[in-house]
Order: sequence, then structure tokens, then C-alpha cells
Amino acid sequence: MKEYIDSDPLIIERGEGVKLIDTEGRQFFDGFSSVWLNVHGHNVPELNQAIIDQLGRVAHSTLLGMANVPSIELAAKLVEIAPVGLAKVFYSDSGATGVEIAIKMAFQYWRNLGITKKTTFITMNQAYHGDTIGAVSVGAIPLYHDVFRPMLFPRHVIPYPHAYRHEGGEAGAKEDTISALRHLLEMKADEIAALIVEPIVQGASGIVVMPQGCLREIEELCRAYNVLLIADEVATGFGRTGEMFACDLEGVTPDLMVVGKGLTGGYLPVAATLATDEVYQAFYADYEAQKTFFHGHSFTGNPLGCAVALASLKLFEERNIVDEVKEKAAFVKQKLEALREHQHVGDIRQQGLMIGIELVRNKGTKEPYEWVERIGVRTSMRAKELGMLTRPLGNVIVFIPPLSSSEAELDEMTTILIQAIIDVTEEKLMKVAKFR
Ligand SMILES: *Cc1c(COP(=O)(O)O)cnc(C)c1O
Repeated sequence: MKEYIDSDPLIIERGEGVKLIDTEGRQFFDGFSSVWLNVHGHNVPELNQAIIDQLGRVAHSTLLGMANVPSIELAAKLVEIAPVGLAKVFYSDSGATGVEIAIKMAFQYWRNLGITKKTTFITMNQAYHGDTIGAVSVGAIPLYHDVFRPMLFPRHVIPYPHAYRHEGGEAGAKEDTISALRHLLEMKADEIAALIVEPIVQGASGIVVMPQGCLREIEELCRAYNVLLIADEVATGFGRTGEMFACDLEGVTPDLMVVGKGLTGGYLPVAATLATDEVYQAFYADYEAQKTFFHGHSFTGNPLGCAVALASLKLFEERNIVDEVKEKAAFVKQKLEALREHQHVGDIRQQGLMIGIELVRNKGTKEPYEWVERIGVRTSMRAKELGMLTRPLGNVIVFIPPLSSSEAELDEMTTILIQAIIDVTEEKLMKVAKFR
């Protein structure tokens, strides 16, 4: 708060396509999709109209003991587009609540089957699943999560397959994860309810992309050892990775899948936890059997949110968004080649239109910048001056543009990105030289 108040606060007044406009009329590209949410741009006529039409019918009615029309239509649509085998939808209102639901469902699933020993979870190093207590319990980013450790439930942590940080390169990174998982399951599978993973791309840790085939192997191990697989697709879902869901990249069907962020095109807070029929059946019983999943939120299945999500998914089909992401991703990749040899660019990680550029002090040794140098923050501030908003993850510059960005817009945005990185890292170099 101290820094925000001392700085020049940015107050957005309106949006137009992939640009946001502040109270002083300054225009900025939305280079991080308003924290990875926005899909079709801002102020989209079709999405606006869907909300207006629904508003003329009903703004909200509960899903506790009843249903509403858009919630049913959206559930059917989600099951249609989700990995084959996911058959049921449980709504909530944010990625974190969607994760809470997945965790509680996995826990109660085993209880309902009469298996009471399977109570713990496996997560991955540097995982992020949201900011509520259950989601923080399976989180593993020390900066965000360590202070709360005494109030969290225990979990097992295995490495996320991070090629860049692994000296042996990709193959070694993958082998580390798989052997740690196999070892853990051999010892403890009968105590473990589920494994939770950010499939293919680990977002908040710095846009880390898994080596190919790893997710598939994780799925196979979970199946072999009778542990549920929870895929947190909150960041990766809805086209961001170049497929509708990241699980589709490897033909994986998790037992539970959480979606949020882009579900409504980034318009309104709706999330969903999808489950297989097998999970659903464990809760399906006479009332006396007491197998009910007692969980609900006031705004669960909000009709305005569900209506705009349906309109967003219609645009996905009409505009062939997912295929376009593949082409746009190739364009961005080629543009960013200009940075590949830059002395302060340690790594450029990309999957679809999720891009993270890791800045380092020394490319050869990968010596990192000190955190107090705030290289990421300063680069993002420079990008803002040049006309694009983004938010860094430590020393990683994030570029996650709206999927609707045209090639010309992506061209302008990447030009700003490259310029900001050059300006900040090379100015820093001059300062160091002067100091010496
Ligand atoms: C953003 C995010 C969440 C949390 O979603 P909220 O809507 O902010 O609660 C959970 N998991 C992942 C992978 C995310 O990126």
C-alpha cells in the first residue's frame, strides 16, 4: 500500500478491444489479460448483450435445491468441450473456491467409499492454486504461503518438471518428477487422496512449461496407484495454451478439473469444478446414507455469469479461437527470437499465448538478479510508460495477451516488451559500471 500510494496510481475507467483506458485518457495494451482472464478483449458487443439479455430475465437465483436456465446450458456445454470422461459440473465463483471444492470432493470421495485412510494430498514445488486456506495448503510458493504454514494441512511436495532450473536439461527434469512421484506412491499411496497439478504450464511460479509426455506419465502413475488426479486449469483453460484445455495437449482426463479465469471470457466471477461420473457416483445415494457433498456459495451458478460464459464459448466456435491461438503463438515466438541472445535474458518460456521471459544478471552462469533490484517490477513499469500493462512474477516478465489480439496488435505489444527489457537491463548495466 505504501508504494501504491506513493506512486502514480493507475485507475482504469474503460476498455476497448485489447486496450484499457485510464481516468486521464491514457491508453494501454492489456498485456496480461487483466491477470490472465480476458479472452475476447474488453467491451465486446456480443458478451455485453448476453449479460443485458439475461438481466432482463433474472440477475440471480440460487442453485441450492434448484437450478436456473443458463447454469444448465453452460454445464452441458462444459461437459461437451472438456476432456472425455468429465461428466458433471459443480459451480463456484473463483479459481480458489473451485480448488477448495476439488480438494474436499477428493477427500470425501474416499470416505464415501468407506476408505478412511486416504486423507493427504500431493502437490508440486512452487505450485499456486489460489489464496483460500485449502488452496494455500496445496500451494508451495514460499513468499505467498510460508507465513500461513502453521494453520495449513500437511501435504507432500514433489518437484515440478522445470527444465531451466535443472542442470541435466529436460529429460532430467522430467525424470526427477516421475521418480519422486513413483517413490512417494510406493510408500504412501494408501494414505493419499489426490495429486493436484497445474497441467503443462505452472503459472504463478513464473510460466514454467512441462517437458512433453510428463503429464501423461503423472496420470498413469496416479491411476496405477489409485490416487485421484486434480487438474487445476484455472490459468491454462479456454485456449490459452493452444488447445481448449492443457490436458488436451496430452490426451489426459483428470478425475477432477478446475476452471475459472477465462471461463466467462474474463467478464464475471464464475468457476467450475468438473468431475467424472465415477466421482459423482460416490456421492449419489439415499439421504440416510449421508453421502451429500455439503458445499455451496451464495452466488454459485450465477445466471449473468453463466450467460456470458455461454456467449464466450459461442465466440470460441464462431471465431475459431483455439486454432488462431496456435498461429498467433508462432508469430509471437518468432518476434521474441530477437531477445534469445540478449545478455540478460536467461530463458524464454512459451506455451500458446502464455509467455514468461526470465531475466538474469549473467546469461552464461544464469546468475539471477537480487530480489531487491526488482528487475521485473521495473521492466513492467517501463512497459507501462511505453503503453502496455503487465505484472511480473519475480524476475520473470509475463506476456499473456488477450486471445483476440490481432497480429498487428501482437506486433506492437511485443515491440514494447522487447524495448522495455532492453531499456531496463541495459540501464542497469550502466549503473553498475558507474558504481564500480
Ligand atoms: C489464478 C489461479 C487460481 C486462483 O483463481 P482465483 O480466481 O484468483 O481465486 C488458481 N489456480 C491457478 C493455476 C491460477 O492461476
